[in-house]
Amino acid sequence: MTNYDITVIGGGIVGVSTALTLKKRFPDAGVLLIEKENRFAAHQTGHNSGVIHAGVYYAPGSLKAAFCRQGSRDTLSFCKEHQIPCRQCGKLLVATTPVEHTRMQALKQRCIQNRIQVFELDRQELARMEPHIQGQGALLVPATGICDFVAVTQKMAALFSVQGGQILTGHPVTHLVETRDQVTVHTRSRIVSTRYLVVCAGLMADRLAKMMHIDIDFSIIPFRGEYFQLPAHRSDIVSRLIYPIPDPDLPFLGVHLTPRSTETSPWGPTQYWDLPEKDTAGSTPGSRIWRRCSVSPASGKSRAGTCCPESKNRKTLSGNPDIWHGSENTAHL
Ligand SMILES: Cc1cc2nc3c(=O)[nH]c(=O)nc-3n(C[C@H](O)[C@H](O)[C@H](O)COP(=O)(O)OP(=O)(O)OC[C@H]3O[C@@H](n4cnc5c(N)ncnc54)[C@H](O)[C@@H]3O)c2cc1C
Repeated sequence: MTNYDITVIGGGIVGVSTALTLKKRFPDAGVLLIEKENRFAAHQTGHNSGVIHAGVYYAPGSLKAAFCRQGSRDTLSFCKEHQIPCRQCGKLLVATTPVEHTRMQALKQRCIQNRIQVFELDRQELARMEPHIQGQGALLVPATGICDFVAVTQKMAALFSVQGGQILTGHPVTHLVETRDQVTVHTRSRIVSTRYLVVCAGLMADRLAKMMHIDIDFSIIPFRGEYFQLPAHRSDIVSRLIYPIPDPDLPFLGVHLTPRSTETSPWGPTQYWDLPEKDTAGSTPGSRIWRRCSVSPASGKSRAGTCCPESKNRKTLSGNPDIWHGSENTAHL
């Protein structure tokens, strides 16, 4: 059995960046990173929208707001330092109804409180800036950007390895045993012991906590996002990220259009809970949330069409949605 000082479980962006940071901070420590897949960023990190958020939505003064501002700066400088594709293209939050226009004013105040540069555009200014987008007005947030989070994660894993960190991919952790001064980590073919364990398992975090017999009071409920792909000849339809004004009753930012420099632009994600039929009918917490929050792919697509009329045209969006799961795991209550 090999002994490590610190073991990190999870090869998404959170686990890999944690492992790299720990190795830099404690260069003499034996640090191990374990990932169940044969590659990094195989789940949420490799299936997201690639947006570097500026922190528009978060409560002023909160850790989340400060973390997002700092993270946005650090992500851009990491990409530039390592020649990873990234672009500070800016984002438009488009109001299409009077109610959204009122909500837009509140978001503008939030940007100001969060010290994020923001410009308010009227209908004509919006049309001049993005001729394919229609709305009653919009907020322009120049700090928002896009990048390749898979490349970022792979680069951080390579740096971790160069610093002497150990990596085990293709090793799902199946069993964890905690004693007074160590944790024994079992995969199908390896057993290691570690003084400290950091679990960054994304949608599996609650399962790993239960493996340690930790009495948690939450369950992770995955939701699924579907992205529609614009054909290559329409990939220049917008030059900035286009977002709706979020509905405060839903825990999502909404279906958005992402400009891409290297590939066709995706519309998405739609959001709906990825639960089997029996859970949607039952009385689990997930089923209650399902009834409250479910947004079907069709309604997501039609919402997208509210500010970009061309997206209603079947020829503009590809017929079959590309389905990007937050995880390969479906129902997980
Ligand atoms: C549809 C969608 C769009 C998003 N868009 C954006 C965006 O534009 N910008 C943004 O900043 N954020 C976005 N997010 C959020 C962002 O992608 C996540 O916050 C981030 O990727 C989480 O990273 P993670 O490392 O925690 O999880 P993951 O990337 O899911 O990584 C967890 C890892 O743990 C591994 N693991 C799990 N169980 C085990 C086990 N037993 N043994 C070993 N390994 C295990 C998994 O294989 C996986 O690789 C989006 C999320 C979704 C779902």
